[in-house]
Amino acid sequence: MDIGGLETVVANSAYVSARGSVDGSAAATMRDKKMRARLKLPHIRDCEHVKTTVDAVFDSMCVKQPIGKRLFQQYLESEAAHMNAGQLWKDIEDYVTSQEKDRAQKAQKMVNKYYESASKNFCSFLEEKAVARVKEDFKNVPGDLFKESEQQLLKHLEKKAKDGFKSSMYFLRYVQFKWLEGQPVDEEWFMDFRVLGKGGFGEVFACQAKATGKMYANKKLEKKRLKKRRGYDGAIVEKRILAKVHSRFIVTLSYAFQTKTDLCLVMTIMNGGDLRFHMYNVDETNPGFDETRARFYTAQIICGLEHLHQHRIIYRDLKPENVLLDDAGHVRLSDLGLAVELPPGKDKTTGYAGTPGFMAPELLQKKEYDYSVDYFTLGVTLYEMVAAKGPFRVRGEKVENEEVTRRILNDPVSYVPKFSSDCKDICEGLLTKEPTKRLGFRNNDCTELKSQPFFKEINWGRLEAGMLPPPFVPDPKMVYAKDIGDVGAFSTIKGVVIDNKDMEFYDDFSSGNVPIPWQEEMIETGVFGELNIWGEGGKLPNDLDP
Ligand code: ADP
Ligand code: MG
Ligand code: MG
Repeated sequence: MDIGGLETVVANSAYVSARGSVDGSAAATMRDKKMRARLKLPHIRDCEHVKTTVDAVFDSMCVKQPIGKRLFQQYLESEAAHMNAGQLWKDIEDYVTSQEKDRAQKAQKMVNKYYESASKNFCSFLEEKAVARVKEDFKNVPGDLFKESEQQLLKHLEKKAKDGFKSSMYFLRYVQFKWLEGQPVDEEWFMDFRVLGKGGFGEVFACQAKATGKMYANKKLEKKRLKKRRGYDGAIVEKRILAKVHSRFIVTLSYAFQTKTDLCLVMTIMNGGDLRFHMYNVDETNPGFDETRARFYTAQIICGLEHLHQHRIIYRDLKPENVLLDDAGHVRLSDLGLAVELPPGKDKTTGYAGTPGFMAPELLQKKEYDYSVDYFTLGVTLYEMVAAKGPFRVRGEKVENEEVTRRILNDPVSYVPKFSSDCKDICEGLLTKEPTKRLGFRNNDCTELKSQPFFKEINWGRLEAGMLPPPFVPDPKMVYAKDIGDVGAFSTIKGVVIDNKDMEFYDDFSSGNVPIPWQEEMIETGVFGELNIWGEGGKLPNDLDP
């Protein structure tokens, strides 16, 4: 074995062992004790400024932010007047994520407990109509059985429990966590493992948050390279969009910070490699996927696209290479550097962006376009998953971009017998050249697309909850990345001077912890539980002393 090969073996084994240890309780053993000790709650006296500025919008504080929600639920449990509502809320969540076979029994119990006026736990804040509907429908156990009840429950809690929460010690605890969340973060908090891939402005490394043991991917953007190649706008757009979306079908940004030389985006680590790799490099004698597998990935991609489009974001760069697998074999969209956000009131945009062979006709013709360009790229991606070649080029063909463009604009797509008729139909629907006739995002969702015959076997509720077992599970001992020597080095950048304006931009970029993922990390790794302890008589420990 040569030195390069040896380097990869050593780096892989460190990476695989760090990765493997981070399931559940073992994460604690991987922590750096010194860094973990720096995660501690401040004295409440030091939080006065946070108290008045903290995000206290009900939906954000009590529902969307995982730590805020936990503390709010603990408050509900502690108050006789809200205990039932708190329990109903937890039971609804448990019902939604439980296996279908267990749902009937759970639903029956919940109806008896909360929906019968004779029960001591009866929830009188539920409107009669909602109660009647649940009682009628619960034997069919639909996934959204309690949807209306949950909305009424949250409205009730906002009106009746939010103020009480805000004057309780649970709110003070929330303030303490928000203070901790707001502390600056830098490279000291992370340990890099091997390089996973190469981007346009720098490398992406596997890394570990030292204080908690959680693994991430760290995408580094070299400051000088960014400046020389005018990458500032793209970098800030990518950061802003990643921080804004929270979907299990899109990589999540957890931290943004800077080092002397780089801007760093720390995000969900996707250990399973990209779809392109799995299509062509795993079994070279049989490239592409069978239809079941292609359907599963396509369904998850649709959920990611739907989320982006509901947040007014056009992705523009969907292709197998940008769809990454996690340990379990679920996929997420990554690389949002070409995405664009439509400002309020504007429904179309312009601009040439994407990858040759994938871009929609209207974009290639320099017309105005909207979300529908992403469904054309979805059509190209699905076609390629099945056919193991793009719809607009012959396999192995060297062809000019102009010719590919001409084909996209003019040529019909042909389908080999490998395509089932449902699959061919949906590809044709997605690859429709006229954007208004293309399958896609309508009335703010993808319902029409999801109900195509091609997807008739997909239970969308379970898929969206991440509960459908993936058709392929990556090997936990395998590293789905190129050998280190093959990732490719960068040339050094010369003649770039960093001035004050650049530094202002870097500071703006380095916004630190992203609240929701940071809170998830604290909960997942057990740190939240370790910090959230109460003193005697339910006081905030070590800090409510006079
Ligand atoms: P660029 O926008 O510069 O093309 P990418 O976001 O595509 O950069 O990242 C470059 C490469 O790094 C990807 O092709 C992939 O191999 C790897 N990579 C990127 N993000 C992740 C991630 N979240 N998990 C694992 N590997 C990743
Ligand atoms: Mg890329
Ligand atoms: Mg990019």
